[in-house]
Amino acid sequence: MNERIGKSYYVHPTAIVEDNVYIGEGTKIWHFVHVRRGARIGRNCNIGKGVYIDEGVRIGNNVKVQNFVSVYRGVTIEDNAFIGPHATFTNDLYPRSFNKDWEIVPTVVKKGASIGANATIVCGVTIGEYAMVGAGAVVTKDVPPFGLVVGNPARLKGFVCYCGRPLKERDVVHHGDDHLIFKCSYCSREVLIRKEDYERYLRESGRVG
Ligand SMILES: [Zn+2]
Repeated sequence: MNERIGKSYYVHPTAIVEDNVYIGEGTKIWHFVHVRRGARIGRNCNIGKGVYIDEGVRIGNNVKVQNFVSVYRGVTIEDNAFIGPHATFTNDLYPRSFNKDWEIVPTVVKKGASIGANATIVCGVTIGEYAMVGAGAVVTKDVPPFGLVVGNPARLKGFVCYCGRPLKERDVVHHGDDHLIFKCSYCSREVLIRKEDYERYLRESGRVG
């Protein structure tokens, strides 16, 4: 069944939307997009030009997928995530054109996370809530909530606020046994960072050996 009754969303005439697709209210699907069967796209999403959404992919509400992104089977994108232009997902750790028994390795982009332009997300990772992946980064392992990763392979360079601005050392307002609290100097929101993630940042940024 195709739940496009009521047309409370927009699909450009050049887009291909296969059967059994769910598209939420207020969502816009732009030029030359291809949405495969069984995909589910939530409310108020913006799916940019040339985007490919594979079979059975789940996309939450208020998600922006910029031009020419391919969201392959096995990738899940939660609410309020941002996927920058030409970002690349994979879904096979051992790609061979002749392997018939390949397995899909799932990837999750959590609520509020952002992926910069042209970043590559190797399958099997979780991009944590409100994390920020720098443009062109190659992500090969999990990114913690609010983590900022850059480079190839991507390293944890710091943390960002809900508003996307970097959190600075001087923004720490509480240093607990298992977490720190930063207060954003831009929007004043408080952000809780797990101690284990902070220690990983210290290691990967070269601050402690
Ligand atoms: Zn902020």
